[in-house]
Amino acid sequence: RGRADLVMVYHRLPYEEVLVDGKPQRRRPTSPNGIIPTLLSFFGDGREGSWVAWSVHEARQGKFEPHTTVDPDRYPNLLAARVPLSKTEVDIFYKRFSKEAFWPMLHTFWERARFREEDWKVFLAVNRKFAEAAAAEAAEGATVWIHDYNLWMVPAALRELRPDLRIAFFHHTYFPSADVFNVVPWRREILGSLLACDYIGFHIPRQVENFVDVVRGAMPVEVMEKVACAPRFLTYGCAVGLDSMSTCIETGGRRVHLGAHPVGLDVGRIRGLLADERGRERIEALKAGLGGRQLVLSVERLDYTKGILEKLQAFERLLEESPELHDRLTLITICVPAAREMTVYRQLQTQIEQAVGRINGRFSRVGWTPVQFFFRPVPFEELVAYYAAADVMWITPLRDGLNLVAKEYAAVQGITRGYGRLVLSEFAGAAAELKGALLTNPHDPADLLAVIRRAIDLPRSEARARLRQMFEIVRHHDVQRWGREFLEAVDAAAGDAQRKA
Ligand code: UDP
Repeated sequence: RGRADLVMVYHRLPYEEVLVDGKPQRRRPTSPNGIIPTLLSFFGDGREGSWVAWSVHEARQGKFEPHTTVDPDRYPNLLAARVPLSKTEVDIFYKRFSKEAFWPMLHTFWERARFREEDWKVFLAVNRKFAEAAAAEAAEGATVWIHDYNLWMVPAALRELRPDLRIAFFHHTYFPSADVFNVVPWRREILGSLLACDYIGFHIPRQVENFVDVVRGAMPVEVMEKVACAPRFLTYGCAVGLDSMSTCIETGGRRVHLGAHPVGLDVGRIRGLLADERGRERIEALKAGLGGRQLVLSVERLDYTKGILEKLQAFERLLEESPELHDRLTLITICVPAAREMTVYRQLQTQIEQAVGRINGRFSRVGWTPVQFFFRPVPFEELVAYYAAADVMWITPLRDGLNLVAKEYAAVQGITRGYGRLVLSEFAGAAAELKGALLTNPHDPADLLAVIRRAIDLPRSEARARLRQMFEIVRHHDVQRWGREFLEAVDAAAGDAQRKA
């Protein structure tokens, strides 16, 4: 038995380890994502816990001590418990299998998915190691909270090792319909593992319903569902059809509770960054650099799911058809590159670079470059300045579990000038919450063009009303509330399981 009452299980450490002169050193993650700051925010108030993640470099040193502090000043009671993996294991488990098999399938690009039996075996072995590490960390009756599809097989192994635990799982990605999920050769094993949880969380009700549908179709045993209202979503004013969802499934005598919990932001931190003098200087410098032109902003990781190429093509058409906009607006694209080993992204990168080159070649004038393409991550402290300066935020994923960038823009604009325009793909989970956004269909070039045009021309009064709605939601459903409500839901689910027993 370990000593942690809350064990987070996420494949990556909250900091990045690199080898400098053969010695492991820490640095900020080069590929920022929203998950690490979200999970860390739990431990900001001194909460005790353990964070189970892989460690590649230290495993090579011969002697290995799994425990280390994360950041004694900011998170004094959070320990990292590292799972030593070889480079080959990480390459196959994460860089190859998770990204080439599950990631495309989850985002409904199932025809891109490469399912290899030998990779699945490595995936199983790695998941087993994570389960063993979590079992060693957890105190009696502790809550173990597992994150994302890379660790789908952890719940089953953990339940077998430690039947006393409360096991919860959160999907940070989209979860597709049964038509898509059923292409996975190991779908029954995955579902069997997930159903060993007490509680499974998703971003939005649609994803919960998709999961229930998958279970209904794939499980040989009879599945009973309870359909109930999700009151949180009623407060969002969602359209009919999203207001109710299944919240529990019973299969093989076990009850598994389900819920929709769209991740929230640390709004206090964003306020602090904007109030900071350096933050204000950054915003002024950016605005000065724009020379009075409108700023259209796009921020995302390099990924075919994000619709970057489709967006650039729409921008090219906009400039083609609207010469009056020339020299009046600038598109800044901040694109976070993928790790070098992830070869699946190379072709897309070349296509994007060609599109940017073509647009700038066709339309640039002395003193005006229509597309400024930054192919590198921007630290969050600087990113908020871009959000503050942007007149239009243009977010066009072909499919996305949530999209934190959309919420971050709404928060920054809500705190600062109060009228920025958000164009958001209807295929992003955040569209279920951000009703004030101008929704667009990135699969339809004509719609992409029409909606960006509308955003550029949107009267300030309408933009203000739309932003008010979005800011209200983002401010209220912040990351603290997200964590609190999720853990309350896990407690309630575990209580229900005990009553049933
Ligand atoms: N981000 C960042 N710097 C960048 C680009 C992105 O810090 O240059 C952060 C961004 O603020 C957001 C996260 O990365 O919190 C991306 O999350 P999102 O849900 O939008 O997309 P994901 O990458 O998880 O699919």
